[in-house]
Amino acid sequence: MKNSAPTARRSFCLALLALLSLLPVARADSVAARARQAGGASGGLQISYELGMSRPTTRLYDVTMTVANLTGPQLQLQFPVWIPGAYRVIDAARNVQEFRAATTGGQPLPASKTTTSEWTIDTRGNSAVRVTYKVFANEIGITGAHLDDTHAYFNGPLLFPYVVGAKERPVTLTVNKPPRWTTISTGLDQLPGKPNTFAAPDYDTFVDAPFEIGNHSVQTFDYKGARFEIAIYGNHNYDPEQFRREHEALVRSQVDMMGAVSFKRYVFIYHMLPDGRGGLEHLNSTVINRRKWLGNTEEGWDSLRGVASHEFFHLWNVKRLRPGVLGPFDYTRQVPTRDLYVSEGMTSYYGDLHILRSGIWKPERYLKAIAEQVKTLQNLPARRILTVEESSINTWFTHDDAAAANANFSYYNKGELLGMLLDLEIRQRTKNARTLDDVFRYLNENFGLPKAGWPVGGFQQAVETVAGSEFDEFFTRYVAGTDELPYERALGYAGLRLERKEAVPFDPGVKFTADTPATAVGLPITSILSESPAYNVLANGDILLAVGGERVTEATLAAQLARFKSGERVPLTVFRGDRLLELTMTMTARPTVSYGIVEDPQATPEQKAIRQSWYTGRKQG
Ligand SMILES: [Zn+2]
Repeated sequence: MKNSAPTARRSFCLALLALLSLLPVARADSVAARARQAGGASGGLQISYELGMSRPTTRLYDVTMTVANLTGPQLQLQFPVWIPGAYRVIDAARNVQEFRAATTGGQPLPASKTTTSEWTIDTRGNSAVRVTYKVFANEIGITGAHLDDTHAYFNGPLLFPYVVGAKERPVTLTVNKPPRWTTISTGLDQLPGKPNTFAAPDYDTFVDAPFEIGNHSVQTFDYKGARFEIAIYGNHNYDPEQFRREHEALVRSQVDMMGAVSFKRYVFIYHMLPDGRGGLEHLNSTVINRRKWLGNTEEGWDSLRGVASHEFFHLWNVKRLRPGVLGPFDYTRQVPTRDLYVSEGMTSYYGDLHILRSGIWKPERYLKAIAEQVKTLQNLPARRILTVEESSINTWFTHDDAAAANANFSYYNKGELLGMLLDLEIRQRTKNARTLDDVFRYLNENFGLPKAGWPVGGFQQAVETVAGSEFDEFFTRYVAGTDELPYERALGYAGLRLERKEAVPFDPGVKFTADTPATAVGLPITSILSESPAYNVLANGDILLAVGGERVTEATLAAQLARFKSGERVPLTVFRGDRLLELTMTMTARPTVSYGIVEDPQATPEQKAIRQSWYTGRKQG
């Protein structure tokens, strides 16, 4: 996953709170026990789904699910409470309505909703049950389902429940689309001779393949025996030829690093939207939402490259080689792992590195991207109090902005930097004979699907095995600890220098409600960094009206504060609730520190060799 929208995070938070209040602690155990029971009788179950979309403007999908070869008195159907890759509870069942059960002959059967995500059907001795329901689909986000008169798009968990105890059974899906829609893009394979029917060997595979159905554009290219498809929904101003060329370059670079491809097809699904954000990885596909009119800017292209390269590297890191709890999935509860700094952070590391290795970026641009990552982490006080493992586990919570400002940082950010530090450290220790690339190839060989994921501590073991030396101190200090990261030392191995610059203008360390209109009176404060002079004076929720007796706007605040020297007293006027307060803040410097990374002209041949092989991915520079 990458860059989810802030508004989406807030709604996840509400869903999570609702779910936590409803789920008893023992729920996971009881589900497992029932799964075992049902599993004994589910050996020959035949499961098929049919999807209708005949009234797209209603946003309602019509789903028919048929389960045959039943032997027990009950059939339990469970919707996932989370979608793999988006590590938060989203309650996929929330938009299901008009749930009915019947025999295949149409005789109604009793169906009761037993939890927020599960229905139990009394089979009355019938060997086949047909269930029908509708799903309201109005979310085009990367974890959503959407239906309108231009297209159908969905993530399987939002539309299809699994039979409790029979997730391992094969399933089919028949799509009944309007004839005017010509194209279906998905990672699932079609059944031979049945163009609109798709098959999956089990439920995990089935729902890990989103669908895009409509009249979108599709480009293709081949590499090492695999077919790559780029499906783009929506108008945009990105040059299609450059779009394909850059995707091909990124794919080639990553496939070359990881070795042979173990799949036949990979599908990039793009939604070009006025404010599209984020990307979500799947078994052999990805959904990426982008802003549609940024194709004439380098910012737009860099954002596109960053997310495309990140999501494609997930093909290996997390979809195939992964911590043990991340597949096969338990969809009934949160599955926390401390290793998201590997699964996400190091996916970002290789995502960016392959923009360089594919030739799209020059080294200077890559070093600038790394320097930006250093700046992000080094300006967040939370790096001193939270470990990257805790940050990984905490992703299942959603902090509000005020709390997160001082208590959280991104495991994408620190994980990317840890990836770089480990890579350079391994190269230095092994005289450039081994690299982090070797660690990921080792993980793929030893823990890649269909093998089980790695156990707790497995990533460190893999690093030590590949490097041939122990990394206890590194992991204790920087992964399980909060020591400052040793950028200078590691970059030095590659003949690079980190330069530190205090940025101007002054950063007050205070954030406000986004998009506060310039005409609004006062700035509503949403978070205050603990290292800022405002921290013990202003409070979250205050509305800042004036500085030094003069009205403030978001545009003028930094300049108004910059008039005061360190140690001077700054009069502030605020509303705190209904009260108008005059407060005094003592100015202290809270400079934002920027960084640059430059090549050392005095680098030795050994340093240059490490740098060159790091840039190119080839052992001998
Ligand atoms: Zn990701």
